[in-house]
Amino acid sequence: MTTRQDCLDRDAADPLGAVRDRFSLPQGVIYLDGNSLGALPVAARDAVQDAVERQWGGDLIASWNKHGWIGLPQKVGGKIARLIGAEADEVVAADSVSVNLFKLAAAAVSAQGGRRVVLTEGGDFPTDLYILQGLAGMMPEVELRVVAPGGIGAALDERVTVVLLSHVHYRSGAVRDMAGLNAAIRAAGALSLWDLSHSAGVLDVDLNRDGADLAAGCGYKYLNGGPGAPAFLFVARRHQAALRNPLSGWMGHARPFDFIDDYTPAPGIDRWLCGTPPILSLTALSAALDAFDGVDMKAVRARAGALGDLFIERVEARCAGKGLVLASPRDATVRGGQVAFTHPQGWAVMQNLIARGVIGDFRAPDVIRFGFAPLYVRRADVWDSVEVMGEILDSESWREARFQTLAAVT
Ligand SMILES: *Cc1c(COP(=O)(O)O)cnc(C)c1O
Repeated sequence: MTTRQDCLDRDAADPLGAVRDRFSLPQGVIYLDGNSLGALPVAARDAVQDAVERQWGGDLIASWNKHGWIGLPQKVGGKIARLIGAEADEVVAADSVSVNLFKLAAAAVSAQGGRRVVLTEGGDFPTDLYILQGLAGMMPEVELRVVAPGGIGAALDERVTVVLLSHVHYRSGAVRDMAGLNAAIRAAGALSLWDLSHSAGVLDVDLNRDGADLAAGCGYKYLNGGPGAPAFLFVARRHQAALRNPLSGWMGHARPFDFIDDYTPAPGIDRWLCGTPPILSLTALSAALDAFDGVDMKAVRARAGALGDLFIERVEARCAGKGLVLASPRDATVRGGQVAFTHPQGWAVMQNLIARGVIGDFRAPDVIRFGFAPLYVRRADVWDSVEVMGEILDSESWREARFQTLAAVT
């Protein structure tokens, strides 16, 4: 049996423990939603203030050169590359995940001649499916094939051009076998396109070791880049010359400041830019990524697994018989940074938890989700959050009217 004192002792001995000091976290709150919006790194706050006041305010347009604004998408891409097992020149920060998935999927379809099937699994994060639906709508020759979870292997054939999959499922946290799927996708002659939104910054992703072709991921979740932070995309070097960005904006041109009429894509990863990069947001993301300085991603993943294991153990001990059912893999080796439970009154339970200072989130229809961002969540937080949930379920305080109304953002 673990005790709260065990949690405190193990937190004190944890080599990642001091990394929490790189974050500004509010008092009296246990933040278990870093998988939706990462916490504020102290360095990001300071960097944005400097970029606004000294750079934009003081140096105005000279800042594009003087403060390296023009190279920020590539600089940020290079910092993310280390976290996902890529080379610095294979990653760039740009746009949103949705837009990057569109660019990459459209490029894969266009590059692959006769192959016309875009393959994905149903029940995944909605934007991924919506983007593919939009792509199929504008390219009538494209056929969108959506299979049930686990059905990719059987659906691969010589007509498939690209396979889009989330590395970690946004609701259950289940981790897909990236190396195995990539091998099957490659054997079928198709390209893989991974959504790393729930794995970058929490798992020891290794795109090149595992043979990935293309990927995109989120800047505002475990990378802590702030609300609406730019996303990133990855194109393996071996594909960089052949694939074309369909959003052929001037920032992806080989010589944007020549101001000529014809588009020539930049060599390498730069062609995946479209318009002017959002400098304030990139500044925040760039500084936020420094919270990973000196941090070993294997240790990050191990800690995420340990925190999730502890949470499951405590919920099943403290909240037994209260209607909670585990909706995530029990085995930490195939689970990402979050743990989900279903509860028939999940929305009300989560609103009550939030009112008590334990912040997780709710995903329709009945999932309550808890994220364990390993850079700043401690074992003691896990312990305390389960105690609060136990009190809520014992007293049924979630029945209060104020916990029943749905909000616009869940
Ligand atoms: C959060 C998330 C996104 C975010 O997409 P945006 O276009 O950047 O808002 C995409 N895919 C998955 C799987 C996500 O979890």
